[in-house]
Amino acid sequence: MSDCIFCKIVKGEVPSAKVYEDEHSFAFLDIMPAVKGHTLVIPKTHYEAFLDIPKLKLQALISAVQKVTKAVVKSTGSAGYKIEMFNGEIAGQGVFHAHFHIIPRDKNDSIEFRADKNWWVQKKDLYKEGEKEEYAEKIKKRLEAV
Ligand code: 5GP
Ligand code: ZN
Repeated sequence: MSDCIFCKIVKGEVPSAKVYEDEHSFAFLDIMPAVKGHTLVIPKTHYEAFLDIPKLKLQALISAVQKVTKAVVKSTGSAGYKIEMFNGEIAGQGVFHAHFHIIPRDKNDSIEFRADKNWWVQKKDLYKEGEKEEYAEKIKKRLEAV
């Protein structure tokens, strides 16, 4: 899809803090994270939502989600993690290229939820200068070590 932001990220036309890529899947840090380390995992091919992804691609994608989650959790040292996916506008989907959110969680982390919606507050300036790249690098290193 030529006007899809995530397709552009996969093609390298839009920059991203990439942490992982394989034949079918791609992962990068969310630009407006709920917490530091918030990562998105997407199929490289454009599928709008969960039910549109062919079974074999979904199997590859979910394996990538597990791999990346392991690296996010290990590199951030988080006590827990959320894996979420929003499908359809009514369910909170904003980018219509299917994606899983991986969100590390800790007891006193900075995540905040909006009271009116099933949605966390997105934080534009959560990372300090250079910190986003440091997070991405740490996650990438963990993935390479597997
Ligand atoms: P959704 O509501 O569709 O599940 O979430 C889309 C997510 O994509 C949001 O968390 C948003 O911050 C993230 N996002 C949107 N545009 C970009 C972008 O250009 N780059 C990155 N890295 N993340 C994006
Ligand atoms: Zn797309």
